[in-house]
Amino acid sequence: MVELSHPDNLETVSRELMRNLNTRAITTVLFNRGKTSRAELARQTGLTQATISNITAKLVESRLVEEVGEGQSTGGRKPTLININNNYGYVVGVKIEKNFVLTSLFDLRVNLIDRRETRFDGVPSSEDVVELIEDEVLKYDSNYNVIGIGIGVSGLISDSGEIFYSPILNWKSQKLGEPLEDDLAIPVLIDNDVNAFTLAEGWFGAGKDFRDFLCVTVGEGVGAGIVINGSLYRGSLGGAGEIGHTTLDPDGPRCRCGESGCLEALASDYFLVNEMEKEGFSECQVGTLIEEAQQGDKLAREIFSRMGHNLGLGIKNLVNTLNPEAVLLGGERLDAAEFFIPSLKEEVLNHSFPQEARKLEIVAAQLGKKAWLMGAAILPVRDFFSLPLHKRREGKAEDNTSLKGLVK
Ligand SMILES: [Zn+2]
Repeated sequence: MVELSHPDNLETVSRELMRNLNTRAITTVLFNRGKTSRAELARQTGLTQATISNITAKLVESRLVEEVGEGQSTGGRKPTLININNNYGYVVGVKIEKNFVLTSLFDLRVNLIDRRETRFDGVPSSEDVVELIEDEVLKYDSNYNVIGIGIGVSGLISDSGEIFYSPILNWKSQKLGEPLEDDLAIPVLIDNDVNAFTLAEGWFGAGKDFRDFLCVTVGEGVGAGIVINGSLYRGSLGGAGEIGHTTLDPDGPRCRCGESGCLEALASDYFLVNEMEKEGFSECQVGTLIEEAQQGDKLAREIFSRMGHNLGLGIKNLVNTLNPEAVLLGGERLDAAEFFIPSLKEEVLNHSFPQEARKLEIVAAQLGKKAWLMGAAILPVRDFFSLPLHKRREGKAEDNTSLKGLVK
């Protein structure tokens, strides 16, 4: 702790802090813009040329930044361009599912290098998952410098990465991060999988141009990520965005959570299957319903339209609460988007407050399935570029502001 009555100490600390902030401003601009000259870096960050030269020299020496050729001359000598060295370090992204685990390797700019799927007989225990991740990281680390791990898992996750409760895995109070950090000595970041998905869309997909947006995923469940002023909103226990368990109809069908009439029970895959059973379909599977709808079956299309209407109602409530610029729609069931988006849009746009609805954009997520793993990988990348850069291997950074948030 800093002794406030000790001015010499304080000065050292504030100099170091300033240097770290400046370093971060520079790496953030490089991350977002790619190749940039030192003069342009000075313009973008507001720092002096001397500070830029000084800090970039250190970054080049550390190999985190590299010189990548020359830019256009503006009269004098052609400027040298610098950029983040994507191969400085690598991160492992993990998504834990009911009976399989996806592991992947990404470079520092979140380009996918490798992806693997490991199946389990039944639901894996947290010890199984820790063992698998350790094996994968050690394999990768023989060829790549792995600097962090990111894990996406469905459920309630605390800020410190403890999994309070995951209904899909039936896990309660599981700490994956601690054993992994103890054994591997690299930071491990864990978040709700829909939050990770939302981060990926926000950094590289359909959310890039918005500061306030919702990302709603629909498939086996219904979830949402909430981005407010460029930052993901997690809520006090990481449970923000559990839109699937907001009540749409107290007399409605039973939800997996034990309550009645949740949005999820009225708009997820099991809603579709239940509706098929009610309507007397002989084979009640979502895939069949999509095929029937594609072939023009009126009843199949009607079921999707009901789902869109219900999902629209749930989204409308969130839109009227948060007034976002956009709603991104993602998740597995986007493969049937053409059949449920019209009724969804009608519900949201025609029944929200007119002044909000006029500007609201409803768009499809852009990254597809890979957003789940990209989002998991972004967690340690974001952490890596947080302060202080030189303390990376010593533990987690406390400042989790997104890279994007710093420059905009
Ligand atoms: Zn529920």
